[in-house]
Amino acid sequence: MGEPLFTMHHADPSCNARTGFLNLPHGTVSTPVFMPVGTNGAVKALTRDDLKEIGFEIILSNTYHLYLRPGTEVIGAAGGLHEFMSWDKNILTDSGGFQVFSLAPFRKITPEGAAFHSHIDGSGHFLSPEKAAEIQTILNSDIQMQLDLCTGWDTSYEEAVKALEITDNWLLRAKKTWLEKRDAGYQGNLFGIVQGNFFKDLRERSAISTAAADTPGIAIGGLSVGEPPEVFSEYLAYTAALLPKEKPRYVMGIGTPEYILDAIEQGIDMFDCVLPTRTGRTGRVFTHHGHLSLKKAENQFDFSPIDKECGCKVCRTYSRAYLRHLFKTQEILISILASYHNLYFLHDLVKEARRAIEEDRFTAFKKQFLSRYGEGAS
Ligand SMILES: [Zn+2]
Repeated sequence: MGEPLFTMHHADPSCNARTGFLNLPHGTVSTPVFMPVGTNGAVKALTRDDLKEIGFEIILSNTYHLYLRPGTEVIGAAGGLHEFMSWDKNILTDSGGFQVFSLAPFRKITPEGAAFHSHIDGSGHFLSPEKAAEIQTILNSDIQMQLDLCTGWDTSYEEAVKALEITDNWLLRAKKTWLEKRDAGYQGNLFGIVQGNFFKDLRERSAISTAAADTPGIAIGGLSVGEPPEVFSEYLAYTAALLPKEKPRYVMGIGTPEYILDAIEQGIDMFDCVLPTRTGRTGRVFTHHGHLSLKKAENQFDFSPIDKECGCKVCRTYSRAYLRHLFKTQEILISILASYHNLYFLHDLVKEARRAIEEDRFTAFKKQFLSRYGEGAS
């Protein structure tokens, strides 16, 4: 299958953190990497040029949403999602499973797949592992995810076993379809997903079967589903240690500096989250001293930037007082500026983390960053 997807560059001896490269169809991506989320083929409030200016080499998009609107006929006719949204760098798509499973009671899961009703018009659909792979191939995703069955924080052991067995079976079926598409010229990669809920024996069983399927990369699923942070951290570390070192490891849905640094320390290479743009639209922004809420009265006469240490164009141009005013008057511009700053901040944090790993000082970097971050913004 040609060169491997992942090339490890440097491992920090003080922890499990590592740097490397993803060799993808639309260019090389340095890891660890944070991927912004463009649910409907658009990262909310940001243009393609904004994303490039910040330096993103890969973004995520959602199969479920794109399948329903505009549909694979339109995106296929455009020549794929890259052409449709004018993004010539990489795209990772999820399988659509997570959204479908969130639709309860409007969906029914069987070992064959998931029958569901659209949240838009109530129309009936059926998503199988083969169909999810097919849709993501039409999107021309550089990385596609297998359809998996995610379980919640309060799931019983028996239910977790059932979901795990279905996920294992769906991975083999997804891989078969993916290999057929590869033979037909598709260049994207497939990732299997480790499940097993919060049971260590099941996590181990799932890690072994997912690794055995030998997909180009592996994701750790079923985390960030409502569990306390210390449980997230424990299961992330436990699962990551079970995965083959030569494959890229991806954890879905994490987007705060605390969670990102924790994941990097455990040897995770890729993560994504809607959080930086979603909180940006509510006037909440990252700073090196913690979260800052722009709407607060204390910003009314504060003519300093969001973060003096941030090099982004928002921090070089606008004051907290002005941004607060934009929020109060509900100007569209606040969503644009706050989302831009938040994504720049996370991109920069991960870049600094990569440098720290290369210089064998990630553990100290993490400790120092979080001690200031925990102080609270002022
Ligand atoms: Zn900034």
